[in-house]
Amino acid sequence: MTIQQFENVTMQIQENVSLKPYNTFGIELITKYFAAFEKVTELEELLNFKLIPIAIGTNSKLILGGGSNVLFTKDYNGIVLKNEIKGIEIIKENEEFIYIKAGAGENWHQFVLHCVENNYAGIENLSLIPGSVGASPMQNIGAYGVEIKDVFYELEAFHKHDRAIQKFSVKDCEFRYRESVFKNKYKDQFIITSVTYRLNKRPSFNTSYGAISQELEKMAVKELSIQAISQAVINIRTSKLPDPKEVGNAGSFFKNPIIPDDQFEELKNRFPNVIAFASGAEHTKLAAGWLIEQCGWKGYRNGDAGCFPKQALVLVNYGKATGKEIFELSEEIIHSVKKKFNVVLEREVNIV
Ligand SMILES: Cc1cc2nc3c(=O)[nH]c(=O)nc-3n(C[C@H](O)[C@H](O)[C@H](O)COP(=O)(O)OP(=O)(O)OC[C@H]3O[C@@H](n4cnc5c(N)ncnc54)[C@H](O)[C@@H]3O)c2cc1C
Repeated sequence: MTIQQFENVTMQIQENVSLKPYNTFGIELITKYFAAFEKVTELEELLNFKLIPIAIGTNSKLILGGGSNVLFTKDYNGIVLKNEIKGIEIIKENEEFIYIKAGAGENWHQFVLHCVENNYAGIENLSLIPGSVGASPMQNIGAYGVEIKDVFYELEAFHKHDRAIQKFSVKDCEFRYRESVFKNKYKDQFIITSVTYRLNKRPSFNTSYGAISQELEKMAVKELSIQAISQAVINIRTSKLPDPKEVGNAGSFFKNPIIPDDQFEELKNRFPNVIAFASGAEHTKLAAGWLIEQCGWKGYRNGDAGCFPKQALVLVNYGKATGKEIFELSEEIIHSVKKKFNVVLEREVNIV
């Protein structure tokens, strides 16, 4: 790795940098250039960096947060820009709500802990999700019955070409299950620089999902609190999901597929044990993990690429798997689920 000064930028840009520490899959590959930014002005300067003579495509400048929702399949022939914009501030409050703004480069879980400690309720169920604040609206992160859209107030994002900050309301973001405008119609156009959440001063506890209430019982919690819920979620996640520091992964690799109710009825006739949940008007959400498990993938391992033994939805790198190997495994899983259930799995992880 070398550090260089380039003509059109004053900031330090590193050359030929290993991305292994920057992706939770722990895939070893190289980015041609790498730089981190802490301010919007620095980001703007880095966007001026001319990539010529290397390939210029829409993806030649990649914004990276914690790298916990990406799979790199080849060396990156552009510049990776690591978002390190920090800062947490209360922008307004009333009797009911607190409006708290966080820099996109803040660590998500640390931000959740900060809110939990201060009794700002609403994101305790989202404890221990890896990654950055700035990526939280990207795919409307969700867990244990809560999604970002439930607590989202607004965000600020820098437009790559207009070179100006634009504000987005909850409506503008068009949040859906693991989706937002930033993954679709505005893909690669905006860099989220801060997110403001509207949190509750009077908590309404959400313990109905998954094993939260069982875990609270196990913890012998006498008085329910957001601190107890956060700890319960941390305990459950730690027992179920692989720690990226030990086994490379990016959480759920696939989305839970949503299919029309009539297709679901047909499927249920053939597979009465299918795990599913109602999902909006005339649609049903299938548990992708169950579909994958039924195809025999749970615990599968080929070399260092595998399917996590405790949760089939999570693909893992046991050490030296390449991104291509993980990607090929995901292709095989998609084909077998299609063949057995006639359901097409969509990847949740961003492929680069
Ligand atoms: C063990 C584990 C468990 C997980 N559990 C969950 C879960 O329960 N629920 C859930 O929803 N997700 C989960 N995830 C996925 C992941 O943690 C989230 O999607 C997280 O929000 C990704 O944040 P990040 O900063 O790491 O994003 P990155 O991986 O760095 O980036 C993801 C995508 O967003 C883009 N991006 C990142 N930051 C910005 C920005 N500021 N502006 C514009 N684009 C940006 C990147 O270019 C990339 O396309 C899990 C992952 C792991 C490893």
